[in-house]
Amino acid sequence: MDYQSFFVDAIEALHSEKRYRVFADLERIVGRFPHAVWRSERGAREITVWCSNDYLGMGQHPNVIEAMVSTASGAGAGAGGTRNISGNNHPLVELEQELADLHGKEAGLVFTSGFVSNEASISTLARLLPDCVIFSDELNHASMIEGVRRSGAQKKIFRHNDLEHLEELLRETAPGRAKLIVFESVYSMDGDVAPIAGICDLAEKYGAMTYIDEVHAVGMYGPRGGGIAERDGVMHRIDVIEGTLAKAFGALGGYITASKAVVDAVRSYAPGFIFTTALPPAVAAAATASIRHLKASQVERDLQQLYAQRTKSVLIHAGLPVMPSETHIVPLFVGNPDLCKKASDMLLEEHGIYIQPINYPTVPRGTERLRITPTPLHDDALIAGLRDALVDVWHRLWLPLGRTAPFSAVPAHLDGVERLAVSSAGG
Ligand SMILES: *Cc1c(COP(=O)(O)O)cnc(C)c1O
Repeated sequence: MDYQSFFVDAIEALHSEKRYRVFADLERIVGRFPHAVWRSERGAREITVWCSNDYLGMGQHPNVIEAMVSTASGAGAGAGGTRNISGNNHPLVELEQELADLHGKEAGLVFTSGFVSNEASISTLARLLPDCVIFSDELNHASMIEGVRRSGAQKKIFRHNDLEHLEELLRETAPGRAKLIVFESVYSMDGDVAPIAGICDLAEKYGAMTYIDEVHAVGMYGPRGGGIAERDGVMHRIDVIEGTLAKAFGALGGYITASKAVVDAVRSYAPGFIFTTALPPAVAAAATASIRHLKASQVERDLQQLYAQRTKSVLIHAGLPVMPSETHIVPLFVGNPDLCKKASDMLLEEHGIYIQPINYPTVPRGTERLRITPTPLHDDALIAGLRDALVDVWHRLWLPLGRTAPFSAVPAHLDGVERLAVSSAGG
């Protein structure tokens, strides 16, 4: 059998759908954020990054780097094993206390990534609950979908942020069954926000547990960076708050915070926690430094919101099709995978601006977009440069402009076959 040919064919299929992914070869430079060096066949060149999830530039904050370097110098590079075999590194213990405090919970548990934290926690909680039904927002992240799948529990997919649909599904479920509602706070491709208090009301009414992914909100919302639930004053109403240390906190790792019993159960039963080496102590220390800084400092959050708002209004003013977004995320509608990639290539090669194209399966087909993430360091001069480059590319590619852009033509929830979540709707 010609094994290689299967892989070649699989890749060829992506090429023919124009959604083969290419990653730019970048080198970030401390002190020059959001600039980076881009290496291509034509050599090395400095460019501006407009699609980083290091949302606040904390990855190069002096306190964070200091914590990482000094901890590595003192405690070494790796963790030395799984926590079950080698015990806890002290920086990890401190980090979990910091996280529990951030979200006002009894305990925290750190995983090697946000992806693993969702997959491991959702699957473990739903497996431990008797005859559990999971209620899952149709736009949930792939890591949550994996958790739902692996749990083996029955699942009911509710239309995105649709409280009425969620209630309908809760109402038709036998009152005696265990129920777990899993959803995100900020949906990172559209930049919209879940009606958290409304979901909590329903959870209380129907006796469900709640699990929220605050990955795109921690560090950035709430007076101490606890996320949208902190901003909205509802953290105490959510059973499990999940987040990442890799985006606004600028390090690596994922976590949950919850009651002692919930955290202890996941710690004790989740293979994705048990059978993998812990985060290096230096990474844990860097994350702790970042969280501590953002608990006390509002400047980064304020500037990020300011520049995100400015970017939106400058691009809208120039007639560019900014999709409606309530948050720091600025999605620009393209609606075609080939053109999305071409626009991204032109921006990089001709304007020195890096914005990765977002194609299926990250977003539904027909809603391909450029996802722009302004940070506290994307100032007015950079915003003006971005606008000029986008206008040039938009004209040369004949891309849809302004309100004529059909970005509301394909509501995500109607694009059913495309979404992993929806394709298995109804469990
Ligand atoms: C990025 C992301 C994750 C995974 O977090 P990592 O720490 O990058 O693994 C989980 N949920 C959502 C919504 C994400 O966007």
